[in-house]
Amino acid sequence: MAERASPFIVAGGGIGGLAAALVLARHGHAVDVLEQSDAFGEIGAGIQLGPNSFRMFEHLGLTEAIDRVAYFPPHLAMRDVRSGELVVQSQAGAATRAEHGYPYGVIYRVDLHQVLLEACRALPAIGLHVHSKLVAFTQTGSGVEVQLADGRRMHGSALIGADGLWSRVREAIVGDGKPRVSGHIAYRAVLPRDQVPEHLYSPDVTLWGGEKTHLVHYPLRRGELFNLVAVFHSERYEEGWNTYGDPEELKLRFKNAAPPVRELLGKIETWKMWVLCDREPVANWSQGRATLLGDAAHPMLQYLAQGASMAIEDAVTLGAALQAWPADVPAAFRAYQQARYLRTGRVQLTARFYGEIYHASGVMRELRNRMFQSGRESAGFIGTQWLYRGIDPERPLAP
Ligand SMILES: Cc1cc2nc3c(=O)[nH]c(=O)nc-3n(C[C@H](O)[C@H](O)[C@H](O)COP(=O)(O)OP(=O)(O)OC[C@H]3O[C@@H](n4cnc5c(N)ncnc54)[C@H](O)[C@@H]3O)c2cc1C
Repeated sequence: MAERASPFIVAGGGIGGLAAALVLARHGHAVDVLEQSDAFGEIGAGIQLGPNSFRMFEHLGLTEAIDRVAYFPPHLAMRDVRSGELVVQSQAGAATRAEHGYPYGVIYRVDLHQVLLEACRALPAIGLHVHSKLVAFTQTGSGVEVQLADGRRMHGSALIGADGLWSRVREAIVGDGKPRVSGHIAYRAVLPRDQVPEHLYSPDVTLWGGEKTHLVHYPLRRGELFNLVAVFHSERYEEGWNTYGDPEELKLRFKNAAPPVRELLGKIETWKMWVLCDREPVANWSQGRATLLGDAAHPMLQYLAQGASMAIEDAVTLGAALQAWPADVPAAFRAYQQARYLRTGRVQLTARFYGEIYHASGVMRELRNRMFQSGRESAGFIGTQWLYRGIDPERPLAP
C-alpha cells in the first residue's frame, strides 16, 4: 500500500478526475478521489473522440480497452437540416490515421468512464470515495485541508478540482461567478440499434445543421446502440442539467426539418435535457497547491466535441508537470496551467464559432455551404488540424 499520509486530493470522479488520478498514481503518488454522488458513474449518452484523444489513450495504455467498446464511424457528414443536402463529408474511423496518426471514434460515456474506473481500481495507491462532496478547502504552506458536506475533513498535499461546470474549487480560485448560459438546449437519447428503421440509419456521425437547430446522430458501443443529440436555441431555460425534455417542444423546433429528421425525432419518447453553458477562457486556474482540470478549468460548448478529450490531455500534462517539479507543487501547477490555457481557450472559443456555423441561416448558411463544399473532400474540417494532431504525450509541457 502506498504512503497515504499526504495524498493528492482530486475533487470529482468524472472522466477528468479519474484520468488525473490514474496518471498521478502511475507516477507514484497516492491519490484520493472524492465524488459527491453515491456511486462512480456517468450518464448514458455518446461522446465523440477525436484522434487527439486516441493519442492519449495510447500513452495511458488504454487503447485495447477503449477499442473493445468504441465505435469507429466511416465518415463525419454534415447535411442541411431543411433540404437534406449533403454539405460536406470527411473520413473518420481508422481513415484519420493517415492524417492525424490516430482514429476518430465515438464512445458511450458510461464505457469510457468504466475503462478509467477499472484502471484506477487496479491501483492500490488510489482511494475512491463516494458520498464525499467538497464544500470548502484551505491551504497551508505544505498542503490542503478539504471540508466535506457531511463535516468530515481530509488532508492532502494538494487539491485538483475536477468538479465540473459548477466547480466549488473554481469558485475559490477564479471566482468568476456562474457559468454563461448559452441559450442553447440539448436533448439527448440513446436507442437500441434495432429500433432504428433501416432508411433512417447511418453508420456515420451525421450532423443535420440549420437555422438555430441541429441534430447529430451516430451508432455507439460497437454499433449496438444509436445516439441522438438534438440542439436548439431557446431563452426559456436558465440553468439545469439532466432533466427530462419535452418532445412537443422538439417537434415545434424541428417542424421545417427534412422528413428523415422529423421521423427520427418522432421515434423517441423520452429525452434527457441539458442547458448548455460555457465560460470565458482564463489563465489563472492554479493557486498555490490547488488547481483545476477539465470542465472546472475550461468548460466549453460541445460543438467541437472535445470537453472530455481536453480533460484527458489536462491529466497527462499535469502528470508531466509534477514529474518536472517533484519538490515544488505550486510551480508544477503553474507550469501545467501555462501549457494548457491557450489550447483549451482556443477550443472554448472555436466551439462557440462552430455552433454559429452549424446553426447558420441566410447568407451565413450559403457561405458555410460554399466554403465547406470548395476544395477537397475534407475542406470543412481542415480548421481542426491543430486540434486533432493533439499534444505530444512525451513533451506535453513544450510550448
Ligand atoms: C450535450 C453534450 C455533448 C458533449 N459531447 C462531447 C463529445 O462529443 N466529446 C467530448 O470530448 N466531450 C463532450 N462533451 C463534454 C464532456 O461531457 C465534458 O467536457 C466532460 O464530461 C468533462 O469531464 P469532467 O470530469 O471535467 O467533468 P464532469 O463530467 O462534470 O465530472 C465532474 C464530477 O465531479 C463531481 N462533483 C461535482 N462537484 C463536486 C464536489 N463539490 N465534490 C465532489 N464531487 C463533485 C460530479 O458528480 C461529477 O462526477 C459534451 C457535453 C455535453 C453537455
